[in-house]
Amino acid sequence: MSTRLHRFFLAYLMLGAARLIFAADLSADERRLTGYIDEHHGEINALLEQAVRIDSATENLEGVKKVGALYRGELDQIGFATRWIDMPVELKRAGHLFASRTGTHGKRLLLIGHLDTVLPGGTWRVEGNRAYGAGAGDMKGGDTVLLVALKALASIGALDGTQITVAFTGDEESAGHPIDISRRDLIEAAKNSDYALAFENAVRDTATVARRGSSNWRLEVSGIQGHSSAIFSAAFGDGAIYEAARILNSFREQLRKEDGLTFSPAMILGGTDVEASGNGGTASGKGNVIARTAIVKGDLRFSSPEQLARARATMTEIASHNLRRTSAKLTFEDSYPAMEATPANLALLDQLSQVSVDLGFGKVAACDPKERGAGDVSFVAPIIPSLDGLGARGGGAHTPGDFADTKSLPELAKRTAILIYRMTR
Ligand SMILES: [Zn+2]
Repeated sequence: MSTRLHRFFLAYLMLGAARLIFAADLSADERRLTGYIDEHHGEINALLEQAVRIDSATENLEGVKKVGALYRGELDQIGFATRWIDMPVELKRAGHLFASRTGTHGKRLLLIGHLDTVLPGGTWRVEGNRAYGAGAGDMKGGDTVLLVALKALASIGALDGTQITVAFTGDEESAGHPIDISRRDLIEAAKNSDYALAFENAVRDTATVARRGSSNWRLEVSGIQGHSSAIFSAAFGDGAIYEAARILNSFREQLRKEDGLTFSPAMILGGTDVEASGNGGTASGKGNVIARTAIVKGDLRFSSPEQLARARATMTEIASHNLRRTSAKLTFEDSYPAMEATPANLALLDQLSQVSVDLGFGKVAACDPKERGAGDVSFVAPIIPSLDGLGARGGGAHTPGDFADTKSLPELAKRTAILIYRMTR
């Protein structure tokens, strides 16, 4: 054996010893939980595949309900009382799957996942440890982690006597409005729980104690229609498209210095005639005219309610000083509140990190809120201590390259099972 190989072998032995020591930090019940997950490796991937093969973009109400039915079957089997909560028709959302069990053991937990995806999907492709498909990582992978952990707990009777509510929302990626209807049940469940755990994608070895909130905005600009050669004249002014461009560039110049704030124009339509509908629209106009109208829509991501108020005030101010013969109307809509990093959230992170260390997986750090957008956990974080980012590792969320790292699923399911076990003793 070469010296190098020898060293490698010694290191390997030491690693093995370290693993034994870590394993000793798990109780007999906890070792049974990890044993269950090791034995059901194949089922974990199969459950993920089944869910990803169902197209469940938020607006595909039937698809969202189908994923709900799949998960409902899993939860029924392990003794949860399940119910589908319909949304009023005018919200154009599928509704939510809620499951609960009542008891008095330890802390009352609220576990959060979502059934919908941003992009339409239904396809499934595996390359090595990467499972690709709309929602594979965001967040059917996390839903799978949550369900497998609960199944492991059920297999050793550890759910008996616990009070756990599982909330799978059907419109996390585009919450139905008004929010006080679409998030009523989630907020109600938080009021009857002590802690919330949410299973959006894990970002490397971190969990989420703070998330930015989001708010939508819409800009409508009007100008005077005329011959292109008369642009900038007193009679015809600068036109709607130049004014929209001025406003957007001023947002960029004046707001970029705000740490923790982003403001992205996502869609723009401009011309003589513009028709916006839902997430799309049409625009028309000849090349030799001055644009009469422009519509822009986008969002704002913010770290605190104060920052949101500041950003809105600046944007409103910018949109109120218009170029010649143009006018602009800027409107805002509340979406997700911000989740702030409270001491209780950080203590919950410590507890998760200890579980991870006891499993031999290393410490878990706090995720930088700038690395992620808003999430359903934000609605409950003002009510109870909360932790998010407990779902699958992966990447490409909200893009056609969305994937879950299937190798991470058993590790994260073990971590979740033991965390829930310890919180509910
Ligand atoms: Zn998500």
